[in-house]
Amino acid sequence: MAPVRTRFAPSPTGSLHVGGVRTSLYCLLVARSTGGQFLLRIEDTDRVRSTDEAAAGILRDLQWLGLQWDEGPIVEGPNGSYYQSQRLELYREHVRQLIAAGKAYEAYESPAELDAERKTAEAGKQNYRFHQRQYTPEQVAQWKAEGRVPVVRLRAPGHAVTVNDRVLGEVTVDAEGLDDFVILKADGFPTYHFAVVVDDHHMKIDLVLRGQEHLMNTHKHLLLYEAFGWTPPEHGHLPLIFNPTGTKMSKRDKARVARETARTLGKTRGKPADDWAWLATEAGLTPTEVTSFMAKQHDGVQVAEALALVTGADLPRIEVMDYRKGGYLPEALINYLCLLGWSPGDDRELLTVDEMVAAFTIERVQKTPARFDYDKLGWFNTEAMKTLSEDQLLLRLRQWLEVVPSPLAALSEAQQRHLLRMYRPRAKTFVDLQVQSRFLFQAPRAWDPKQVDKHVAKDGGFERLATLRAALATQPTFTPDSVQAALQELCAAASLPIGKLAQPARVAVSGTGVSPELADTLAFLGRDETLRRFDAFLASR
Ligand code: GLU
Repeated sequence: MAPVRTRFAPSPTGSLHVGGVRTSLYCLLVARSTGGQFLLRIEDTDRVRSTDEAAAGILRDLQWLGLQWDEGPIVEGPNGSYYQSQRLELYREHVRQLIAAGKAYEAYESPAELDAERKTAEAGKQNYRFHQRQYTPEQVAQWKAEGRVPVVRLRAPGHAVTVNDRVLGEVTVDAEGLDDFVILKADGFPTYHFAVVVDDHHMKIDLVLRGQEHLMNTHKHLLLYEAFGWTPPEHGHLPLIFNPTGTKMSKRDKARVARETARTLGKTRGKPADDWAWLATEAGLTPTEVTSFMAKQHDGVQVAEALALVTGADLPRIEVMDYRKGGYLPEALINYLCLLGWSPGDDRELLTVDEMVAAFTIERVQKTPARFDYDKLGWFNTEAMKTLSEDQLLLRLRQWLEVVPSPLAALSEAQQRHLLRMYRPRAKTFVDLQVQSRFLFQAPRAWDPKQVDKHVAKDGGFERLATLRAALATQPTFTPDSVQAALQELCAAASLPIGKLAQPARVAVSGTGVSPELADTLAFLGRDETLRRFDAFLASR
């Protein structure tokens, strides 16, 4: 198979979300499986909505996921710049070419005039399509004098266009469906349609993979390839990703859930509807921020997240950073997303990237929307927690600690490894690990009476615990092995099953009676802390 060059071309108008991850993964798999290249290009021509922080965030998220591009920002390459905002002269030069060839023209209609025309068409139940108008030289002179800056439009050739999609098959739009669309905006920036075509051509892209929401743009792009006389790349449009409920997954879902939970809480607390001052105070936001958010004037993710901290709303995870903060492993996210819209043709589910590369073909990408299943992702994560090497897991733990405040950050490397060994078989995510291991960092102030009753009080446990305390106090070392040896020795001497000693000790140090292997747990706490906890418990009887 010939090497295929693919590209992922995100707009830095927000953070990377799961749909973008899957698109870039498939691009990478096609490139790797054919010996081609995977390019990354930042499409930052929307001056108002693009930000440098969003662009940096996308690079950071892709790197965390291990989706390494062969050409693009940071690694660079022979086809740069890989930021569209740094390629403006190239686009303008190509606009001039099309104007000179009579395939594009300047148009002076103002946004307000166009809007009025669109509304009239809609009122008459007509599709609005722009086609070239004839201007008199006086009109043009007057507009120029007014300071109007023209846009540039492509002249639609007036024939139907068919996309031969690698996923969806043939999709045709007839001539009436295509108007003279804008290629250069009044601010001198190219439109998405124009920049994407010029760049895909110059960057020698063979296959464009992107979400199905772009399908109807592709016909316009083919008109541009035709106008330039260039051979277009192949296209494949990937199925949308839906929520478990079958609605389109969108960043707005966070705002929706945050609002619903706030309203429910307001009702429970008997607050008047539309009075959000109490919530603003609790969330540390201004009343205006909260009121405008609740009135759906905006969907600000930061407001949604601040409210969720107060209301306990379980916000849907949509962006890569949500998963990273949620303590998920990139390996699991990649594995799960790979199978969300594609299958290897057999019933394998756990795949490494190398195995995905070996098995990937576009023919098995599905046409219909895929539903995101949070439980299934959880299963992939639990599996990855068990199967990654300890070194890999330690790296991932540290990457998690870079983005969440946690007591685990203050631990030494040896302690972090110790913690991972104890919890990787039982924790679903790093957040789960942190929750489960909380007692290691905070001595119990009370002990579950049921546990105390059953395993200690009724069972002569206090006496046995005192014996264990004495043995542990004089151990020359305090490692999992030496603690285990002490436990076994005492049990053997008294002909007791190990649980008779371990369970009272577990209650003493955890307060709940739940912990990983006891010897591991005590060794993690260290001798001093273990004895302190034993003493506090013994004193409580
Ligand atoms: N910048 C577009 C987006 O983020 C890219 C679409 C494409 O791949 O052509 O949706």
